[in-house]
Amino acid sequence: MSGVRPPVIGITPIRSQAGGRYAPQRQGQNETYLDALARAGAAPLIIPYVAQPELLRALFDLLDGLLLPGGEDVAPASYGQAQQAWCGRISPERDDVELRLARWAMAGGLPVLAICRGIQVLNVALGGNLHQDIATEVPGSGKHDWYPDHPRDRLSHDVALAPGSRLATLAGTTSLSVNSLHHQALQNVAPGLAVVARAPDRVIEAVEAPDHPFALGVQWHPEELAANDPRAQRLFDALAEAAKK
Ligand code: MN
Repeated sequence: MSGVRPPVIGITPIRSQAGGRYAPQRQGQNETYLDALARAGAAPLIIPYVAQPELLRALFDLLDGLLLPGGEDVAPASYGQAQQAWCGRISPERDDVELRLARWAMAGGLPVLAICRGIQVLNVALGGNLHQDIATEVPGSGKHDWYPDHPRDRLSHDVALAPGSRLATLAGTTSLSVNSLHHQALQNVAPGLAVVARAPDRVIEAVEAPDHPFALGVQWHPEELAANDPRAQRLFDALAEAAKK
């Protein structure tokens, strides 16, 4: 064997709902994330939920980068709000693990790509908060919840990227059409994060951390586009590249 060891990118799983004797609780992840990382030359590593912080830390210490994926809503208690009727299903155990991983990565300069729920976790981890439902809380907003009855790669709205941002440089453009499978969005943006993309209705669609080696969050799902769209794949390529350093 020769050459440089590929970077190892940790990704948290989705936890199934236990359904009785023949459906025990399981942890797994959409293959589109794993495939996008592998195409980028990164080795994906699913980081299971472990309640003990010292065990989670042992897993975190194996990583060259972190991918925070999509999933349930973040529990509003973690950003100091009462849970409203229009908040979706939450998973406080998952929040605990991902908020910890996000804070460690941001404090330690570990490259992070945060997708959908992930951008929300990143924002909450750093002290920001969320709209619990865009349609309810954002007057005049367009439709962002193109799920579950639509293809996951459906291009549903445009986003305007901030000129000069890391994201715009990676995408090679300041305008993208993206898929949209979310009903929540960032409200107040945490210190250390800059908004670098918005939908036409002003909903925040991407943030990055200018003072961090590589921390980018997007509200859309580039992993569902990346097999056919080089601009989407480039986000994973950039994560892998940053993780080699
Ligand atoms: Mn959207």
